[in-house]
Amino acid sequence: MHDYIYVPFPVKKGDLEKAIAGFTAFDLVGFSITIPHKQEIMPLLTEISIDATNIGAVNTVWRTDSGWKGTNTDVVGFIAPLKTMSRDWTQVTPVILGHGGAARAVIAGLTNLGCSEIHVVGRNSDKLARFYQSWSHSTDITSRLKIHNWDNLSSLIPATDLLVNTTPVGMSPHVDASPVDQALMQKLKKNAIVYDLIYTPSPTQFLKLAQAQGATTIDGLEMLLQQGVAALEIWLEQPVPVDIVDMMRNALQDYLGL
Ligand code: NAP
Repeated sequence: MHDYIYVPFPVKKGDLEKAIAGFTAFDLVGFSITIPHKQEIMPLLTEISIDATNIGAVNTVWRTDSGWKGTNTDVVGFIAPLKTMSRDWTQVTPVILGHGGAARAVIAGLTNLGCSEIHVVGRNSDKLARFYQSWSHSTDITSRLKIHNWDNLSSLIPATDLLVNTTPVGMSPHVDASPVDQALMQKLKKNAIVYDLIYTPSPTQFLKLAQAQGATTIDGLEMLLQQGVAALEIWLEQPVPVDIVDMMRNALQDYLGL
């Protein structure tokens, strides 16, 4: 039994520093942080984890003796369902569709897993080039990262062991859309893993097409859940028991109508 509560604090853009001074004054244990403050908070923290530094965004903050520390639990959330699978991740060549905020956590996670090449596909060459540049602080990541235009998918899909959708294509209410069509999905390796970060609907059209090819599929619910579990572990300074994780999963499914 823990005597804590988790409540929303709406903070206007520009008011973050004042809000954090308030949190310090009343001894808050920690907090989640989301849009529009995920980047703005970084200079206000005394320490930032490598994951959050790599991604350039913080989603979880906690109090330490020396001040507020931040990380981004989307990274461990993303890899949590992958870590339950037995694979030699150094031999897995992932292909990531899209290069927005969520793709950054995916890339940091796949780097932590040890994937030696990470292929990112986008529809706009200029944005792709800027995306590649945005990792220039980390040779650990740029040495693995390869960027491709969408047209290259037909040659990338037959060679990949892990296909990840980080685009919003197929998200409710556009449930019939898929970033990869049936003809392209048919080129998938039989033992591939196909992972969609979208959690509504479940499964997405993208995952349905992958299932029809016999792929192992993962939807975005576990990532959403596990980033929350990771935050809770930081704040409580202890592992979250499996029955509590199950309770959190059920609450999330009920909330999302899944
Ligand atoms: P974002 O920053 O807006 O990035 C979206 C990316 O998808 C961009 O690279 C964008 O490319 C690309 N894209 C959008 N429409 C496209 C299309 N029709 N064809 C090809 N590419 C397209 O969004 P985000 O924050 O990364 O979130 C992306 C998805 O992940 C959302 O569905 C979100 O719900 C989900 N998500 C899930 C979790 C989880 O815990 N499961 C966590 C975070 C996000 P352009 O720049 O060219 O538009």
